Amino acid sequence: MDNISSNISSVKDSDFFGLHFDNSFSELPDKFYSKVNPTPVESPKLFAFNNLLARQIGIDFLDTDSGIKAQIFSGNILPQGSDPLSTVYAGHQFGGYVPQLGDGRAILIGEVVGQDGQRWDIQLKGAGLTPYSRAGDGRSALGPVIREYILSEAMNALGIKTTRALAAVTTGQNVVRESKKPGGIFTRVALSHIRVGTFEYFSNKRDIKSVTTLADYTIKRLYPECLDADNKYISFYKSVLKSQADLVAKWMSLGFIHGVMNTDNMSISGETIDYGPCAFLDEYNPRKVFSSIDYQGRYAYGNQGEIAQWNLARLGQALLPLIHENQDKAVSIIEEALTEFGHFFEDKWLKLMLLKIGIQDQQESDSKLLGQLLNLMQKNGVDFTLCFRLLSDVIDLNAEPLDHLCEFGNLFGAESEIHEWVKKFNNRLANSGNSTENIVDLMNSVNPKYIPRNHIVEEVIKQAENNDDYTLFNEFLNILQNPFEEQIGYDGYAKKPSPDQLVKQTFCGT
Ligand code: AMP
Ligand code: MG
Repeated sequence: MDNISSNISSVKDSDFFGLHFDNSFSELPDKFYSKVNPTPVESPKLFAFNNLLARQIGIDFLDTDSGIKAQIFSGNILPQGSDPLSTVYAGHQFGGYVPQLGDGRAILIGEVVGQDGQRWDIQLKGAGLTPYSRAGDGRSALGPVIREYILSEAMNALGIKTTRALAAVTTGQNVVRESKKPGGIFTRVALSHIRVGTFEYFSNKRDIKSVTTLADYTIKRLYPECLDADNKYISFYKSVLKSQADLVAKWMSLGFIHGVMNTDNMSISGETIDYGPCAFLDEYNPRKVFSSIDYQGRYAYGNQGEIAQWNLARLGQALLPLIHENQDKAVSIIEEALTEFGHFFEDKWLKLMLLKIGIQDQQESDSKLLGQLLNLMQKNGVDFTLCFRLLSDVIDLNAEPLDHLCEFGNLFGAESEIHEWVKKFNNRLANSGNSTENIVDLMNSVNPKYIPRNHIVEEVIKQAENNDDYTLFNEFLNILQNPFEEQIGYDGYAKKPSPDQLVKQTFCGT
């Protein structure tokens, strides 16, 4: 260890390593964070680096060898200009308020600005103890690192706003979880790491000055258009609501379950953040929960819109003194915005779900048509992703009675009601005036063929953990880059799990 430490100081002032930091969060008052360096690890090895993302965020690592990258993205080497810190926040966890959380194992090494002017946080997750580690070890097991890498990159390719994966290393050290596991460090890139819980932390201390400082910083960084509004804080609040409504509606239209929608895991930027026990639905069921710690089903698939609203009410509460000097007036402004959120979310959800069944020209009876399909899917335990992807196979605008429904029909077993539904579906599409070709193209552009299926993610982790083999990791990651395209020879990745492959529970792995 001593060797590594002296290594750090000897290179610290001598090189940028392609990272030109431009830090802003560290300029905030020091009650917003604790300055803390990553704790060096024994023998970091880089197993993933995202060159495309590196280019997008304006950093240059093409000529850097993987040994140096491993040192940097494990935190063993701190490039010049980095100013490592862990942020403090609070949060409602499963509904109960925890007054202080914070980055217990994540260290923001700095911010970079891309050529387009976009600012990005670069954070190492699993980089060692911080003042917010509580009883944790500040580390991460390799499994959750792989899960977050795959899931976040897949989500990005699916068109969902998300934190991104820049790099991943193994540490050469074990961590103790249910058993000893190989350790890993994940480099996360985000528009920012400010959470609903960051606002709650200061608000619950009655530190209005800091809530204001944080709001001003966040508006300038993430929602600069609000600066022109009559009341920038109301405008900011409504913008956050809108970006969350968009986000959660999109999650649901693709079958994503976050799993731990605590207020500390909800980003103000509208990015999906903190991939823990998250998973995509296999069989459609609104009550589906994967997380091993979600005993009450609070964060079930179908609850996510309401939970987002609940979390955003907590944000509203934190912002109350900024919204209006008269508290009653402030409360009614927040309540009205939350009601608007509900409508906006439902509209957005319906619009996205109707696109999945080829409908762009929304009519009143369409939600009933959609509801009937969802009911049949639930009744028959139909795979969510396959169902929508295969639905375009049964489009027949002449609405001839179909004597067989190909693979799509097989998903519903011997169910005859699906024949009736397909007839109604075809009648409806025939009314839209759109050609079959256009409808099929539309549907295939919103219904992915490839998603990060749980059972494959588990297999990838197993191969990495047991055999240090990343072949499947790389192949799967590659396929997930083009989720809507047919990729010849890779049908296996689109299959639903067999009964023995079915993942029933997921774990935070913390
Ligand atoms: P999560 O719900 O996974 O986002 O984590 C909740 C809180 O626990 C956050 O404050 C994390 O920083 C902290 N935490 C999770 N795992 C660890 C760990 N291994 N060591 C220290 N803190 C952790
Ligand atoms: Mg978290």
